Parts: sequence; C-alpha cells; structure tokens
Amino acid sequence: MSENHLFGAIRAAIPAPGKALALLADGRTQTYGDALALSARLAGLLVARGVKPGDRVAVQVEKSWPALALYLAAVRAGAVYLPLNTAYTLNEVEYFLTDAEPAVFVCRPQIAQEARALAARVGVACVETLGADGEGSLVDAAAAFPADFADVPRGPQDLGGILYTSGTTGRAKGAMLSHGNLLSNALTLKDAWRFTADDVLIHALPLFHTHGLFVASNIILLSGASMIFRAKFDPREALALMADAGSGATCLMGVPTFYTRLLDQPELTREATARMRLFVSGSAPLLAETHRAFFERTGHAILERYGMTETGMNTSNPYEGERIAGTVGFPLPGVEVRVTDPETGHPLPDGEIGMIEVKGPNVFQGYWRMPEKTRSEFRDGFFITGDLGKIDEKGYVHIVGRGKDLVITGGFNVYPKEVEGEIDAIAGVVESAVIGVAHPDFGEGVTAIVVPVPGAGLTEEQIHRALESRLAKFKQPKRIFFVPELPRNTMGKVQKNILRDTYKDIYRNVA
Ligand code: AMP
Repeated sequence: MSENHLFGAIRAAIPAPGKALALLADGRTQTYGDALALSARLAGLLVARGVKPGDRVAVQVEKSWPALALYLAAVRAGAVYLPLNTAYTLNEVEYFLTDAEPAVFVCRPQIAQEARALAARVGVACVETLGADGEGSLVDAAAAFPADFADVPRGPQDLGGILYTSGTTGRAKGAMLSHGNLLSNALTLKDAWRFTADDVLIHALPLFHTHGLFVASNIILLSGASMIFRAKFDPREALALMADAGSGATCLMGVPTFYTRLLDQPELTREATARMRLFVSGSAPLLAETHRAFFERTGHAILERYGMTETGMNTSNPYEGERIAGTVGFPLPGVEVRVTDPETGHPLPDGEIGMIEVKGPNVFQGYWRMPEKTRSEFRDGFFITGDLGKIDEKGYVHIVGRGKDLVITGGFNVYPKEVEGEIDAIAGVVESAVIGVAHPDFGEGVTAIVVPVPGAGLTEEQIHRALESRLAKFKQPKRIFFVPELPRNTMGKVQKNILRDTYKDIYRNVA
C-alpha cells in the first residue's frame, strides 16, 4: 500500500493546478492548486499536533474554504475526519469528544474558551479554532508548514470519516466510513449523473453531512469540476446564478426545502434554468407535488436519490430515462437492494412493503465502538436501513417511511406516508405529518398534523370527510391539528420526534 486510496484518486483527477475548484461568495476563486497547497499545510500542522494514522480529527466549524481544505488535510494525513453539526451544543459535543477521542478538535473561535476547558476535561490534547472567514489559530498556524505533503498511505479498508447519525432516539452513533466506501460511492455517482470537468455545481449544503461533504464535494473533486461555494442556500441568489451565463452553473444538489423555496420565487422559469443540466434532491422525501410543480415551471425533472449516513447513496432515479416523482429510482451500480419482512427478515416479493436492506461497496464499516449494535443492524451481509419501502414492477424503489414511524393502531399497521399522501391531496392542504400517539384503547392513535394553505379556511371536519372514502377506517386520523409549519432539521427532514413529544398526551383521557 503506497497510496492514499481516496486522496490519490482526487489528486489524479485534477485537470490542471490552475483550474477553479471553488468560487467563493467574496468573489475570490480557489483553484485545485490552492486546495493542494492549503490541505498540505493543514496536514503538516495536524501531524505536528500529534495526529497519527487512524486518529480522529473532530471539527465543528462554519462552512468555509479552509473547512473544505481541512477535510482534505485530514484524509491526506491518514486521519479520520469527524465533522459535527454546528447546531450541537457544547453539552452534545462533550459526548462526541468523549466517544470518539479525537487527537484534535477544531472549533469556532467564539467558543474557544469553553471548548478548551471541555477538551482538557475529556482528554483531547489539542484545540484549534477556525472562523467563518478563515480566521483563527488553525490557518494561522498552518502557514508555517510547507505547501506540499507526502500523503499518508491508506488502503480501501482504512477509515476516512466518521459521521454521527442524526438519530432522533437513543445515543448518536458514529458511522465509520472507509476510503473505499467514500471513493466507490463518489465515482459511481459521478458516472451515474454524468459529471465532467465542465460542470459547475451550486454547492449550498452544509459540510458536516454526507450530502454536502461526501456526495457533493467528492463528486466535484473526482470530476475535476468546479463549485460555486456558498455557506447557506439563498433561493434568490441561486436563481440569479442559474440565469447568469457568466456563472457557468450547471447543477444544483439540494434537500427538498431548496426546491420548495425555489418554487416560491416568481423568477423560477424555464428561461432562468435553461442552462442547468441537473437538479438533484435527497436527504428527505421530495413531495411528488414539488417534483411536478418544478417540472411545470422549469421543464426539469428533479432527480431524486436515496441514501443515508451509513451507506452513502443507495438508489437514484435515472439520468436518462424516466425520473418518477415519489420514487427514489433504481439501485446504483454495485448496490444490492432488497425488501424483507420486518419481523422474520425473509425477502419479500416485489410490490410488497417491508424493510429496505442494502449491500455494496458503499455500506459502512459499522458503528464506532458499538459492535453489538453493528451486528444487530446487519443480516446476511445486508445493512438493515430502518426505512420501509417497496420495489415496484418497473424496479423503482419507493420509500414509505422510517420503520420507527410505523403506527400500530388496534393491531393494524399504518404507514404514515400513505395517510399523508391522501391528506396532501385535499385542496387547501400544503403538507402534513402523520404520527402515532399513545392511546389507551388502540395502543397508538393515528394523528395528523396539517399545514393548511393560509386563508383556505380548512376545518378538521372537512379533512375527516375527505378521507372517509379514501382510507380504511383504522388508517384515518383520530385527531387532526393545524400548524403554520412543520418542524424540520437543517437537512429538511420533518422532526417527528418533536411532534410526538408535543402531542404525547392528547389521548390520555379518552378512555
Ligand atoms: P441521514 O443519515 O441523515 O442522511 O438520513 C438518512 C435517512 O433520510 C434515510 O434513512 C431516509 O429515511 C431519509 N432519506 C434520504 N433520502 C431520502 C429520499 N430521497 N426519500 C425519502 N427519504 C430519504
């Protein structure tokens, strides 16, 4: 093993050192050569700070150019990159530092003092700071190190990253991703979505999640392409970039909320998006309605794909061929997808709803220091995703919801997505979330939280009536609540745990 498996491939894909990699908000352009130099300096610094191959480098910083270079530096130094959501409190960070035992923790300058005290307490030897504009000790200290670095050899099995799953219940688990996982998945996606050095991606996703870090950034790097690198998604700016021939923008990768926010802009038209070749959506379900509305306005069929922290991407709608709204497409090349009976684990025939399981070079190496948990989530080499779904007669995979979202009422299984689909089809409904709430008679009561169109004057009674003829009695919500919007996390996922908590006592006195 003489190569660094992931970085060797990234390095080999560089078209020319002067080629633009990242176009920043302040107007500066950072080239591939700049990325090589800054990541070399940062890798030199990490090693000087005691980082050895396999050591974790924990990072909780705003999205910035040096933050991207820091990811590359960690990979080059043979370390395991461990990005953390900036929304985590210090209390939560304490858990991650204790669990992962990183050699270095890079944090925002604003929390430097508390972070140093915390690091001292939990035994993390080194803390550096990195601010949104590149300020802080990290980049300053890196300047003293050379602009080249002998990449530490790493094989396909060696870890390149640990991402803690957003896990809404229980302890967060660190998903261990190897160089082989990351490289194979990015190369597969690059081919599946036809990325070339001519592409310019609007990169407005966070860098602490698999979507923005491993999907978006790795694909661009391995294509020798460029990205318009933005800390946050601003729909007006994104549209202006798409409409401006000078920006060169060709693609957008987003979570569903990017697309609903774009649809709110009157400037979203066929002309404004005429230069774009691809819109990708994932990380949360894209409403079929959003897919259709976007197609009507722009002529672009959003390409929806399905993945998760533990596996990278598993399925994708086709680049050529029909992109079907409400589905997540076909298994990616090299990835096997099967649907099993959640109770027995036996594979089910196509068309039947069950547990989605995946196997392939993308599937992670297990949960950090949780061998039991890891074992219990694999079956015959397949990872049990926790997502319920089915494969239709054309081979398209459909996600029906999370296993833990399944509502069992009076002994009957209710898939929230089915009920949500019926509610969403009612005139005057923007969207809905269906949850199970403890019920003294039924075990759980189907409960709907509905976002109405403002001013539509929709009533609970109207919804009950509309559902009467469309859903079996046991699937119909026992209670319906109206809210102005659903709680979502930064990746656009509806936080059903928050809803379950808010409404947990509503059936308490019904018996
Ligand atoms: P995360 O690990 O945070 O990326 O979350 C992964 C989970 O997001 C998956 O297990 C799915 O439940 C959900 N997910 C990701 N992409 C999609 C999609 N296109 N449609 C429906 N759910 C999705």
